[in-house]
Amino acid sequence: MPIDATLPYDDDNVFARILRGEIPSNRVYEDEWAVAFHDIAPQAPVHVLVIPRGRYVSWDDFSERASVEEIAGFVRAVGKVARDAGHVGPGYRLLANTGKRAGQEVGHLHVHIFGGAPLGPMLA
Ligand code: IMP
Repeated sequence: MPIDATLPYDDDNVFARILRGEIPSNRVYEDEWAVAFHDIAPQAPVHVLVIPRGRYVSWDDFSERASVEEIAGFVRAVGKVARDAGHVGPGYRLLANTGKRAGQEVGHLHVHIFGGAPLGPMLA
């Protein structure tokens, strides 16, 4: 069920629980700012999610409230994962569903990285 990204952050969302180590994930990268792991239901040969360590519901929330340091750290981490950690390949696609109308299902900001093959036209 897509979430309303204007709602307050819910500390029990699945990615908050992954960050706390309460549920397992197949991690490919982590640093001070971000954690990256394989999507449980991949939609491309490589489908990795990158999440910030901070409590942000969505891209909208993050871009407005996060410090410049957090934003820089997170963006660098996404680039690093795409280049190094996920064997994504020379081309990849980034996606951040934001809010109900975009089909966001987990209320902790996550950037999808798709790769590992030619991707063709944009995903719907
Ligand atoms: P959204 O629609 O952009 O919010 O994407 C949520 C993504 O999280 C989907 O691609 C799900 O397959 C993925 N997902 C949900 N639960 C888990 C999990 O426990 N581990 C890894 N990925 C998950």
